[in-house]
Amino acid sequence: MIAMDIADNISQIRQQIAAACVKCGRNPEDIRLVAVSKKKPATDIEAAIAAGQTLFGESYVQECVAKIDEVESAAEWHFIGGLQSNKVKYLAGKVTMIHSVDRLSLAEEIDRQWGKLGSSVDILIQVNLGEEQTKSGTTADELLKLVSQVARLQHLRIKGLMALPPWEEDPEAVRPYFRQLRELAAQVEALGLPNVEMEELSMGMSHDFEAAVEEGATMVRIGTAIFGAR
Ligand SMILES: *Cc1c(COP(=O)(O)O)cnc(C)c1O
Repeated sequence: MIAMDIADNISQIRQQIAAACVKCGRNPEDIRLVAVSKKKPATDIEAAIAAGQTLFGESYVQECVAKIDEVESAAEWHFIGGLQSNKVKYLAGKVTMIHSVDRLSLAEEIDRQWGKLGSSVDILIQVNLGEEQTKSGTTADELLKLVSQVARLQHLRIKGLMALPPWEEDPEAVRPYFRQLRELAAQVEALGLPNVEMEELSMGMSHDFEAAVEEGATMVRIGTAIFGAR
């Protein structure tokens, strides 16, 4: 994609986030834009960095690691896709947050790999709000149990929740899912567990991020609206 278009798209999205914030009385600085660069070349990422974007989300381990090596400008990387435990080792030390932790065995492997580095990583627990077969995520029912188990691990910090709700043509139809994620975060917070802070709600994508911002998103993950169709 043409660099100028990427810059324009980012500026457009920032304006839309600001407008959504005005509607609900939030501060735009409380919302981080995660530019989802999966399947897009490093040159597109460099164009986004030139336009002031510093945070990127990737969904596939091999591609993620290759791009982190290839992109020369300074950037921060989050892993947002489905993650197999045997691939965690490739991400260790390279990403600053994993949005997609949905089971204890995966959290244990993240703990082990960051532990080897003598460091730790921020994670979000992914909730499968629509209970869709095709999507990863723990169920709302299992969430509290999973959080209390994962919270015992030393080399990660639970920072919040992430969801990828069912796709709906009308963003208003997704809004109840965003609200549900916020309510689940409040339930987790109420447990008062050490090592658990419900600071982050990662929700909202290209076609529904304004509704997500109005419902409390602190991170929106946007690919297509920045980099074009994949
Ligand atoms: C691809 C992807 C996105 C971005 O979706 P767009 O509709 O292109 O904005 C967001 N979150 C996750 C987990 C993704 O895999």
